[in-house]
Amino acid sequence: MTAAALTKSFGKRLEVTLIESEEIGIIGVGESTVPHLRDFNRLLEIDEADFIRRTKGTFKLGIQFNDWRRIGDSYMHGFGTIGRSLGLLDFHQYWLKARKLGWARDIGQYSINTLAAPQGRFLPPPSDAPPNTPLADIVYAYQFDAALYARYLRGFAEARGARRIEGKVVEVRQNGASGFVESLRLESGASVAGDLFIDCSGFRALLIGGALHSPFQDWTHWLPLDRAIAVPCEKVGPPTPYTRVTARSAGWQWRIPLQHRTGNGHVYSSRFMSDDEAQAFLLANLDGKPLADPGKPIRFAAGKRTKMWDKNVVAIGLAGGFLEPLESTAIFLSQSGISRLMQLFPRLGFDPVLERTYNAQAQFEFERIRDFLILHYCATERDDTELWRYCRNMDIPDSLREYIDLFADAGRFFRNGTELFAVTSWVQVMLGQGIVPRSYHPAVDWVSDADLKSFVDAIEKVIAKCVSIMPRHEEFIARHCAAD
Ligand SMILES: Cc1cc2nc3c(=O)[nH]c(=O)nc-3n(C[C@H](O)[C@H](O)[C@H](O)COP(=O)(O)OP(=O)(O)OC[C@H]3O[C@@H](n4cnc5c(N)ncnc54)[C@H](O)[C@@H]3O)c2cc1C
Repeated sequence: MTAAALTKSFGKRLEVTLIESEEIGIIGVGESTVPHLRDFNRLLEIDEADFIRRTKGTFKLGIQFNDWRRIGDSYMHGFGTIGRSLGLLDFHQYWLKARKLGWARDIGQYSINTLAAPQGRFLPPPSDAPPNTPLADIVYAYQFDAALYARYLRGFAEARGARRIEGKVVEVRQNGASGFVESLRLESGASVAGDLFIDCSGFRALLIGGALHSPFQDWTHWLPLDRAIAVPCEKVGPPTPYTRVTARSAGWQWRIPLQHRTGNGHVYSSRFMSDDEAQAFLLANLDGKPLADPGKPIRFAAGKRTKMWDKNVVAIGLAGGFLEPLESTAIFLSQSGISRLMQLFPRLGFDPVLERTYNAQAQFEFERIRDFLILHYCATERDDTELWRYCRNMDIPDSLREYIDLFADAGRFFRNGTELFAVTSWVQVMLGQGIVPRSYHPAVDWVSDADLKSFVDAIEKVIAKCVSIMPRHEEFIARHCAAD
């Protein structure tokens, strides 16, 4: 992604060398995304249908959470908007009062994404949709084969001048006085010199961790899951336009439908479950026949490097940090690291203010996503296993406590700066996890009860009508972007 974005944006003004090792390979498990990836693909001017075809991808309207609040419970975190704002207030404020009066249905009935997804319907916003129809509000992301996407982007970068070297980095050479990285020595004996080094070496963090020793901020006391086992299986039905995540006794299981197969994984805490148990559990809970051997579990720790930019090294991707994949945020974090780097692109003097700004922004971004993830664990009624008892009783960051208190009072949410998840996401997950506001914004009472009822009813009707004319997801794919 980094090489593709740099070659596309800077062209021949920059000499980009991409070092990769086939023997080591890529981690290859990022298959579900957030809608921002569309902006990245747009920057590269990638044709959407071609991209979906080549990565055997599908469309994603949101994530279905099963068994998170309690066993048997299910809610959808859909992208896009809920209802329509009126005057000062977001729709959910009116919904809160209507619900108290017993007139409103589940919040999911008032969002086109959350209503369409479980019905298996998908449509991108039609270019001729009138601006005030919910069809214009459909916001979507992708589910795709990560290895195919990486290969696609490699070809993209090479076609635009990136020089790719196949080989293993075995030594990072630094200037004795400044500590700046000067070159990398490869197993072949070759040396690759450069001005700016972007560490995309995954969990190995060869430069940012191995050479520069940027400390790792460990957040596992809030996000205790530290292992994952992944396995693809045969698909047994049409691909759903959403990712499913089901809470399990020591973690959770993902299900990501692609055109040709279904991606599955079990993310768990090694404190509460052994690797053998986790693997057996995953294999016993697949839709179809496994298509590969699950292999060894992937080990990780939730957290990030304190400095993701240090001297002339910028860490992008897993090298810089990782937050478990519950909300599919890792590829987004790479994307936003790349765009931040392009905004703060240095001259050779490397003014330290660039590094400070980059690191402060990255810290903010990670912490806001971290809090959103913790919300799914701490706000639970589950107490059936050790993991869930731990989560519901753990201390949480003060920043998250404030968000929860604000919402629990009267359903308010205040988005801080450029944090990734906006009101729609926080509201759906707060409600889905059982945080029900005691009241609603006082301005809701300015609307008469009769007007409130007809407003809420009208939104429900128009959304149901729009969903009924959306095609089925598999039909849309077959018509526009079916893989070979
Ligand atoms: C269990 C799990 C599930 C995930 N699910 C999602 C998801 O649904 N959505 C999402 O957005 N993200 C997800 N992610 C994150 C996603 O997988 C990564 O963000 C993404 O794959 C990018 O990884 P990377 O490029 O940082 O590292 P990698 O894919 O590990 O790439 C590292 C690269 O460095 C090279 N390399 C390493 N060491 C050397 C060396 N010594 N010499 C030369 N080359 C070297 C490797 O060959 C490779 O090319 C998930 C991660 C995990 C662990």
